[in-house]
Amino acid sequence: MDRADISSMPLPRLEQWVTDALGQPRFRAGQLFKWLHQKQAISFDQMTDLPAALRETLARQAEIAGVSTRLCQVSRQDGTRKYLLELADGNCVEAVLMQYRHGGSLCISTQVGCRMGCAFCASTLGGLVRSLTAGEMLGEVYEVQRQTGGPVDSLVLMGIGEPLDNFDSVLDFLDILSSPQGRNMSLRHVSLSTCGLADEIDRLAEKKLGLTLSVSLHAADDTTRSSIMPINKKYDIGRLMASCKAYYEATGRRISYEYALIDGVNDTPAHADRLARLLAGQNCHVNLIPVNPVAERGTRRSKDSAIRAFRQLLEDRGLNATVRRELGSDIAAACGQLRRAMDN
Ligand code: SAH
Repeated sequence: MDRADISSMPLPRLEQWVTDALGQPRFRAGQLFKWLHQKQAISFDQMTDLPAALRETLARQAEIAGVSTRLCQVSRQDGTRKYLLELADGNCVEAVLMQYRHGGSLCISTQVGCRMGCAFCASTLGGLVRSLTAGEMLGEVYEVQRQTGGPVDSLVLMGIGEPLDNFDSVLDFLDILSSPQGRNMSLRHVSLSTCGLADEIDRLAEKKLGLTLSVSLHAADDTTRSSIMPINKKYDIGRLMASCKAYYEATGRRISYEYALIDGVNDTPAHADRLARLLAGQNCHVNLIPVNPVAERGTRRSKDSAIRAFRQLLEDRGLNATVRRELGSDIAAACGQLRRAMDN
């Protein structure tokens, strides 16, 4: 019999499991939930306020998602830490802890590999192996906290994988993360980045969560975007923008558009002009990312002068645009450089 994946269960589901499968009173679920997500226990032996017999039953019938550190690299440039994390089945993902003045920001992975196929990104090179469970995503957070001893103040779902291609587990993850009886992190401190799965953006809008939605746009015309992001053939820019506008209307949360500047591909004044026209009138933010090199991809970052001119043009047109700081590039921990093995 498969053991129950209790680390992935939001509290109401855990209560149901504890009463139905174990025949235990409901309050035991509350105790268990706190052990899993507040005290972040890694074994049932630690759960000292549960009766010994119940702990034995749990050890037989349930499992705690195991995430352990295989390797940690620290950037000499800026102290960014990249963790290669091993899951219970031996698969690995990466997570990156960045230090900002306002505290630690952790970037976590949502899938082992990715099937979105973006032309500039390392994470999709080997395709998708599998999606992570909610418990495994929480395990990334808890393991990095254990390793560093410091709190994680904010979280970005921008590591390996497409979060909206793992919709249900990501929603369970957010539910547990923000639960007052759990990790109790406000979703105001969480950003979720998507390559543009418009149907799932619509589903997410219905949940009216407080998180920040980042949309990886990277081009403002369909020809350029389809040439670097296969998802654009399924949801073109018109369809994506309709979902983004509806998302803003439903949630009141300003969308952040990511735009990786790639030399000779999407970085000319004409491209900036198209972007300014596409986003005109939207209450949004544009995050410009000088593209990070990925050996197999051959993409080159734009020249500094092109980056400056691109940003200036957007600002002149009334858009809010910043150039993202590149943290951890010496340890291949920057955007688009994460992989699922130790080969970088
Ligand atoms: N799948 C999600 C989240 C992971 S990628 C998404 O696509 O948004 C996080 C961000 O890094 C995305 O904006 C992605 O397009 C960007 N990115 C990917 N490869 C990059 C690279 N080589 N340089 C800079 N940014 C990159």
